[in-house]
Amino acid sequence: MSNPTAAAPEPIPECPHCQKPMPLCICDSVTPVKNRLGLLILQHPQEQDRALGTARLLAKHFEDATLRVGLSWPSLSKALGQPIENASYWAVLYLGSAHAADLEAEAEIVALNRKGEIAENQRALLGKLEGVVLLDGTWSQAKALWWRNPWMLKCQRVILNPKSPSRYGRLRKEPRKDGLSTIEAAATILASLEKRPDFAETLNASFERMLTRYREVQAEMPELAPKPAVKDRRRSVRRGKRA
Ligand SMILES: [Zn+2]
Repeated sequence: MSNPTAAAPEPIPECPHCQKPMPLCICDSVTPVKNRLGLLILQHPQEQDRALGTARLLAKHFEDATLRVGLSWPSLSKALGQPIENASYWAVLYLGSAHAADLEAEAEIVALNRKGEIAENQRALLGKLEGVVLLDGTWSQAKALWWRNPWMLKCQRVILNPKSPSRYGRLRKEPRKDGLSTIEAAATILASLEKRPDFAETLNASFERMLTRYREVQAEMPELAPKPAVKDRRRSVRRGKRA
C-alpha cells in the first residue's frame, strides 16, 4: 500500500497576493478596476484566517486600495502613506449600530454624528467623501483597532444597514456586528457611494467564488480548509429583517 515517493508531503504553496494556500486562491479571476474613492483596509495582526479572510482579495479588486497590517498608526496620512488634508472626507466603517427602526429602510449606508447618532444631513456628509477605512478582523480585533487609532474620531463615522445577511452563512462566526465580511461591507459602501452597482456585483461574485472554492477544497483537503469553530451564532440579532 505504501508509496515510497509520497512519503513527505510537499508544502502547499501560498499565493503572494491573497496569501491563501494556492488551492483556495481565486486571484486569477480578478481584474483591478479604477475606483474614485480611496480604500484603506487596516488588518489586525492576529487576523489569521487565511482560508476565509477577504481583505487581500478585496484589495486586489481596485487600483486604489491600501492594506496595512498593524495595531496603530499616528494618523490617517501615516496609515495611508500619503498626506490627507481633511480626515473628515474619509469615512470609517464604525462597529456600533443604530436602532434599525431609526434607519431609513432604503439607506444601506448611514452617516453618524460625533455623538454616534444618525446625522441630519446624510446626503451632504456622504456626498463629500473621498475615501473609506475598513477594519478587518473579528469583532474584538476591530474594536481594538478602533480604540488604538484616535485619529479615526476625525473621520466620518458610517454604519451599514445591509439588505441581506452575509454570504458566509454558517462557515464563519460573524466577524462584524452588521454580520458582513470585509469584502461584502466594501461592496455595499463603494457601490453606494460611487453609484456603481457593478462594484457590488463583482465583489459579491468573487466572494461567492471564494466560498465555493473553500467548500470544494474542504471536501478534498480538509487540512487546508478546516471547519471553523462556529459558536453562538445568534441569527436573531441580524438587522434589517424583511419578511
Ligand atoms: Zn491569490
